[in-house]
Amino acid sequence: MSYADLHLHSHFSDGTFTPAEIVARARQQGLGALALTDHDTVEGCADTAAECARAGIDFVVGTELTAEHQGNELHILAYFVDPENEPLRREMTKFQAVRQERIREMVTRINALGVPLNAEDVFALANCKSPGRPHVARTLVRNGQCRTLDEAFDRFLKKGRPAWVPKSKMSALDAMALIHQANGLAVMAHPGLNRSDDAIPDLVAAGLDGIECFHTKHPPATAQHYLAIAAKHNLLVTGGSDCHGMSKGKPLIGTVRLAREHFDKLKAKAAEHKS
Ligand code: AMP
Ligand code: FE
Ligand code: FE
Ligand code: ZN
Repeated sequence: MSYADLHLHSHFSDGTFTPAEIVARARQQGLGALALTDHDTVEGCADTAAECARAGIDFVVGTELTAEHQGNELHILAYFVDPENEPLRREMTKFQAVRQERIREMVTRINALGVPLNAEDVFALANCKSPGRPHVARTLVRNGQCRTLDEAFDRFLKKGRPAWVPKSKMSALDAMALIHQANGLAVMAHPGLNRSDDAIPDLVAAGLDGIECFHTKHPPATAQHYLAIAAKHNLLVTGGSDCHGMSKGKPLIGTVRLAREHFDKLKAKAAEHKS
């Protein structure tokens, strides 16, 4: 029996691992398939695909889009998208610029609290086009201004804290349409984290393909809850660890395992879409 981890971040967004490190760890974990799902970018996918080919692991191109529906934030995972698709690339570039501008705004607010921090230092540490709050937190820790990432989030960066800046997001329905025109499948990420159950019927009506039932932050009862919803709406079932490398203390890759039968169904639907 082989397993898949379909939710992984690399240093092309806010993870710390290179594609080679991800694939080496996937091998150690005995994974048969993986998807790279960096925030608002597919830049790491070519390298990860090449590493997976060498390791005999099935690779899925992916990305995680930040979206909203009726005022609530939710994340949409895109799987099997064409990485060269122009509208998708354009939207991702736009959201990368939004992320960079948001970092500048967060840094300005942190400075206003009397903490010296330079946006260029955050960008240098991030060294990617899709920076996020974890990079601000890591810079604060590296500078000795916070002891831990949690402290940086609790003091400054969490929603409602003084340096929190709202992120401009695309509508979930637009995100799904964007994914579909790029020949991909749209999957609702970690619904248990966003308390977004009310959005599910609308997303299903707009062609949602699947739901991430298995996730690091879904206890077994939560996974069961979403498996029942998937069955009710005839949605594909996905799962992944949401590993961000070492940034959350320990590498999570392989700790959430999707059974092969679910992965095969996802793959079959993607193939059906393309043909
Ligand atoms: P952003 O995309 O800039 O809004 O940042 C969201 C990222 O911050 C996600 O990957 C979260 O997992 C991460 N995050 C949220 N809270 C914390 C925390 N307390 N410690 C570390 N990372 C966090
Ligand atoms: Fe992240
Ligand atoms: Fe997410
Ligand atoms: Zn994620």
